[in-house]
Amino acid sequence: MLKMYKYRRIAKKIYRILPKYEKMTDEALKEQTNILRSKLLQGKTLADILPDAFAVVIEADKRVLGLMPYYVQILGGIALFFGNIAEIKTGEGKTLVATMPLYTRALLGEKGNFLITANDYLAERDGQSMGEVFKWLNLTVGIGSNYDEQDFEEKRRLYNADIIYTTHSRLGFDYLFDNLGSELDKQVVKKFNFAIIDEIDAVLLDGAQTALVISGSPKVQSNYYQISDWFVKSLRQKDYEYSDDKRRVWVTEGGVTKLRQYFDIQDIYGEQYVDLIRHIVLALQANYLKQRGKDYVVEDGKVLLLDTVNGRKMPGVKMQGGMHQAIETKERVEVTSETKTLGTISYQSLFKQFSRLSGMTGTAKTDKEEFMTTYHLDVIQIPTNIPTQRHDLKDQIYVSNQTKIEESIKSVKKAIGELRPVLIETGSVSMSNLYSLVLLQNRIPHNLLNATTAARENQIINDAGRPMSVTLATSMAGRGTDIKITSEAEQHGGLMVIGTERMTSKRIDNQLRGRAGRQGEPGDSVFFVSLEDKMIVENSPQWVRRTRQRLAKKISENIRIKTAQVTTRRLNNVMDRAQKKFGNAEIQSRKNTLAFDTILSVQRTRIYAARNKVLEEDEHYFEQILSQCVDKVVSNLIVDKKNITVEGVSNFVFNNMQSAYPLNDIKLHVNQDKSKKQIHQFLKNLSNKLIKQSLNRFTDITQAKYFKKVIILRAIDRAWIDQLDYLQQLKNMVTDRGMAQHKPINEFGREARNRFFEMKNKIFLDIYRSLLLSELKTNQDGSIDIEFP
Ligand code: ADP
Ligand code: MG
Repeated sequence: MLKMYKYRRIAKKIYRILPKYEKMTDEALKEQTNILRSKLLQGKTLADILPDAFAVVIEADKRVLGLMPYYVQILGGIALFFGNIAEIKTGEGKTLVATMPLYTRALLGEKGNFLITANDYLAERDGQSMGEVFKWLNLTVGIGSNYDEQDFEEKRRLYNADIIYTTHSRLGFDYLFDNLGSELDKQVVKKFNFAIIDEIDAVLLDGAQTALVISGSPKVQSNYYQISDWFVKSLRQKDYEYSDDKRRVWVTEGGVTKLRQYFDIQDIYGEQYVDLIRHIVLALQANYLKQRGKDYVVEDGKVLLLDTVNGRKMPGVKMQGGMHQAIETKERVEVTSETKTLGTISYQSLFKQFSRLSGMTGTAKTDKEEFMTTYHLDVIQIPTNIPTQRHDLKDQIYVSNQTKIEESIKSVKKAIGELRPVLIETGSVSMSNLYSLVLLQNRIPHNLLNATTAARENQIINDAGRPMSVTLATSMAGRGTDIKITSEAEQHGGLMVIGTERMTSKRIDNQLRGRAGRQGEPGDSVFFVSLEDKMIVENSPQWVRRTRQRLAKKISENIRIKTAQVTTRRLNNVMDRAQKKFGNAEIQSRKNTLAFDTILSVQRTRIYAARNKVLEEDEHYFEQILSQCVDKVVSNLIVDKKNITVEGVSNFVFNNMQSAYPLNDIKLHVNQDKSKKQIHQFLKNLSNKLIKQSLNRFTDITQAKYFKKVIILRAIDRAWIDQLDYLQQLKNMVTDRGMAQHKPINEFGREARNRFFEMKNKIFLDIYRSLLLSELKTNQDGSIDIEFP
């Protein structure tokens, strides 16, 4: 709370100097951008000029948008400026809050200041509206949603803007694409200075498991999918088992015996069976973990993944590492080709690149600890402008699902009767479809929100505040647009939010509740719960099931367990505990993803840095690489005694240097009385001589330079793509051996590191071979084609 004290003092100061800016003409106010910038140039810090900068934006917000930021919004802006997560309730005006810290940070003139939204629609909406203020103050604004992907200049302009409104996935993909190209000045995302992530919990927590992936050319198709699927389908229940959290599955001793028989192999962990075992692991997961309707759907002979949070179909998105193909095999649809990953990054790693990160959302406090430990982000709760009037009613607990649904429909009818708007929220797409049917049976017209576009969703949400309007949605649909109720609806008690089950976390429950009672309006929220809810069934101890059975017998099904009953308090607790248990598993799983990704990230950063260095085309650096290359390749060869024989050396020379090199010369330099050192020297000299010859084929030195650049870059990229592929498979393997003792992450880290060193050697050898064995073909126009070995 020390922070809050500090921020309040800063806010006070802002109010003190505000009148000065209120008196200014438009021209004078616009001129402040230059004045503040020159103060920074004279050595003032951003913190020094913060009060003035904020005051300028506040006044500009008022003049341009007609919105005067409230005191609490200014506090929120300060919290963002200093790199916190500001918890600001839905409808309190987060869009406007962001203008103050964004403007102030952009004054430094370093590019790379972002407002990251959850979807294109919001980037466009907020970038357009708030962009007016920035432009008025002589800053440039880019909007990531509306540029032409093909138009490079436009893309460059976007990232050169002082302030950029875009989505997390666009930023991520552009970053990855930057690092696939071969020219430095074709890179656009240069700076990661400051970012505000809107709806940060949705991006960093709910969306944490999906990484961004750019895939490229198809891989050679494996024929293990079908046979693995057959085998796995032949297993009985006792042949495999699940981890406690049901997120992993592996074969039992019995399963292993069957595996040995089925494939007629003994040593199932032998090198030669790694690929087969990998496919069996995939088939096991595809058949016994992935569920049709929950994880994916099958349409027109295609497997479409579902966003597990909001249930939206994700056409074009594929699971990596062969999982998609394993599911296709399971579902007996045509197996698509596996592609190589050219680049991948998780959102966590992407955002960790920012010098200063901040975020805003209506719901963060419940997950404060995770934000702190994983992202080092503190959560600051900002009070609402007007006290909240919303009533959060007690959970309505029923024994059976059937009764729960019937009773909740009664509540919907009651609210409609009172001329109130109703928002019904379900935990999954299948539940929302079911509810939609029940509503139809009850002749209740409603809008169904799932699997549509964000723009359409926002339209529906916009309409959701009229009296008697009923909106049925999954938990994440339409985030970022608030439901504005009409004054008539307000008179009748405001929005009624009905949750048809408790969601996967308290945070998401709160997000849902927060839809009602915005800006001090009236409203209610209530959750309907049954002891048959998935959350309870899967995450509760035995006695809950027994209680349910007992109650089901004892009381007639139609009676609600009265709030007054003793058991209810115990049961209430059960719901919280089930949610907690589920939540812990989620946190653990996010931690795991992050731990794996951190290891990958270290390697990616080094590879990208090396690439960039090559792109700088520094002759000195090229020379350094080439000489390192010769050194490494030769040393690696003679490490093995076997190789320091005439046969070993000549094999190497013929295969990697020159196929027609005179054997006699080799015999001369490699015989018994030569020391290892002498042979080393011979090979080095020979390499250097031949490299020189190879480079002398170019008459033009820029061409020679280009040749070096191309072969080095190609070697790095080829090795890195293999490495990504390997790491992906390795991750699947270590997480699914499933034996309790070992630590998958440690094993992954160790293997990954070893493989990184091997990769470096591979790169050196690749460069070396390209240098010596590439054929050159001069075209008529003087250009040169390189034919790689
Ligand atoms: P949030 O993102 O916090 O849910 P929005 O940024 O979407 O909220 O804003 C909700 C509504 O409040 C918008 O219609 C906006 O114009 C309005 N609003 C925000 N700040 C102010 C203000 N200071 N004065 C008046 N209206 C405001
Ligand atoms: Mg918003």
